[in-house]
Amino acid sequence: MMKSIRRVLIANRGEVALRVIRACREMGITSVAVFSDPDRSALHVQMADEAYALGGVSARESYLNQEKILEIALRARIDAIHPGYGFLSENGQFVKKVEEAGLIFIGPSSEAIARLGDKMAARKIADSLGIPTVAGTIEPLASANDGRMIASSIGYPVLLKAAAGGGGKGMRVVQSDDEFLSAFTMAQSEARNAFDDDRVYIEKYISHPRHVEIQLLGDLCGNVVHFGERECSIQRRHQKVLEESPSPIVNDTLRAQLGEAAVTLARAAGYTSAGTVEFLLDADRKFYFLEVNTRLQVEHPVTEFVTGIDLVKSQLEIAMGRPLPWKQEDISLHGHAMEARIYAEDPRNNFFPSTGTLRMYSLPQGPRVRVDNGLRQGDVVSIHYDPLLAKLIVLGRTRAEAIETMKRALAEFIVAGVRTTIPFCEFVLNHERFRSGNFDTHFVSEYFSPRVLDENDERFLIPAAIGAVLMKLRRHTVTPASSSLQAISAPPISLWKKRREETYRS
Ligand code: ADP
Ligand code: ADP
Ligand code: MG
Repeated sequence: MMKSIRRVLIANRGEVALRVIRACREMGITSVAVFSDPDRSALHVQMADEAYALGGVSARESYLNQEKILEIALRARIDAIHPGYGFLSENGQFVKKVEEAGLIFIGPSSEAIARLGDKMAARKIADSLGIPTVAGTIEPLASANDGRMIASSIGYPVLLKAAAGGGGKGMRVVQSDDEFLSAFTMAQSEARNAFDDDRVYIEKYISHPRHVEIQLLGDLCGNVVHFGERECSIQRRHQKVLEESPSPIVNDTLRAQLGEAAVTLARAAGYTSAGTVEFLLDADRKFYFLEVNTRLQVEHPVTEFVTGIDLVKSQLEIAMGRPLPWKQEDISLHGHAMEARIYAEDPRNNFFPSTGTLRMYSLPQGPRVRVDNGLRQGDVVSIHYDPLLAKLIVLGRTRAEAIETMKRALAEFIVAGVRTTIPFCEFVLNHERFRSGNFDTHFVSEYFSPRVLDENDERFLIPAAIGAVLMKLRRHTVTPASSSLQAISAPPISLWKKRREETYRS
């Protein structure tokens, strides 16, 4: 059945809100933004066709405020809600409320989320379909002692995980029996605090795995198609930092096997819209089902580059009831794509979130470069929300070319006012293990320490260089009016030259 979608509310902020706004505009759909108090003049508010205030500052008061979002949706007569990622995107109860209000949720049904969004429930289904899962339990641990017995029968190390977990939270590696009790208590309370759900279960801790995931789309007519894999093994604290497609270690046979497993699982669960099935590969490239992300993924642009499809427009088309225009054999990967997540975090100080005003913010451009960005020069990066500034995505004919393009683009990315993970991304791209393709999820913990960032890294001199430029500017130009968004006119000297001078001087 065809449904008309003319007005879409985007229950999110930052780069992903902009991503959805752009898809809406291309499809002639009216985009409706919502915003918290500090986001009143944010880019997503300016870019949307309409915007409504949520009120509040914290995520809980604003972007997680289900009642308020639904109230705005009804008042603004919207047809559908796109949740982006994070926030309410995987919240089955919210999706149910959206459905009950007679609105379309751009994502899977609340039933499909209940079946696949919960890590244990999904493990159970995967297991019943004969898809290999990581050894462990499929029921929550009844008690710490119960867990200890199970852990010793599986064999240490084990991983305690929150059934409702996400974003690397609520996970604890336990190396031995004497660590179990305290790890269990901590995992449980972390899960309760982060997800309001303290169910914890056990998995065998696979040593040195690779994280490989399959992107899929399911329509409302029962068709499910996959779009190959993304390699996401470059992680810090179980969170992805750099992703690519194809994976350097996945060949056509393995891709077909992973794709088949992912599609089988999605079909069995009645899954629709965009979704990702995550797997771990062990040293022998044997794969194990890990979890399903029942939403658009942060790293989806990597797949868009190598397949040429638009995943967000596809989500909207699916929500309208249109059948997928492809069969599995129509899908193939071309070239090599890579994404670097640019966070406002200080890689020299344990990735501590870095806040402040973006005094200088100049994005990379040029061939085969895409920037999914949520900010402008003059904007304030606060502690209230996720510190992701932008995602930098590049395409090469080969992996080697993608790496060189990424390095070139990172060098063009100029940020002053907050510390960023750009130098850390450069470290990864220059590392022999990364370049060889021979790495696993421990790459960062094994090879990275703040010491490896050259003390003379010119990027860290930029704030100083720019400070000098701004001083000059202030002497020669009229001080900008009160608006902090006022653009600064072109500096009288080349910043590049300045950077080099500064570097050589030190
Ligand atoms: P992806 O698998 O798409 O790369 P991440 O795990 O990096 O996603 O999470 C994307 C964003 O959503 C991050 O900001 C993360 O903190 C947040 N997030 C993911 N899952 C959850 C969850 N269950 N609850 C709250 N936030 C989440
Ligand atoms: P989240 O919901 O936070 O994304 P996941 O279950 O997807 O949690 O796991 C995130 C990361 O943690 C994986 O990509 C992997 O690096 C690590 N991990 C998870 N489970 C295991 C396991 N059983 N063995 C080894 N590493 C694991
Ligand atoms: Mg995951």
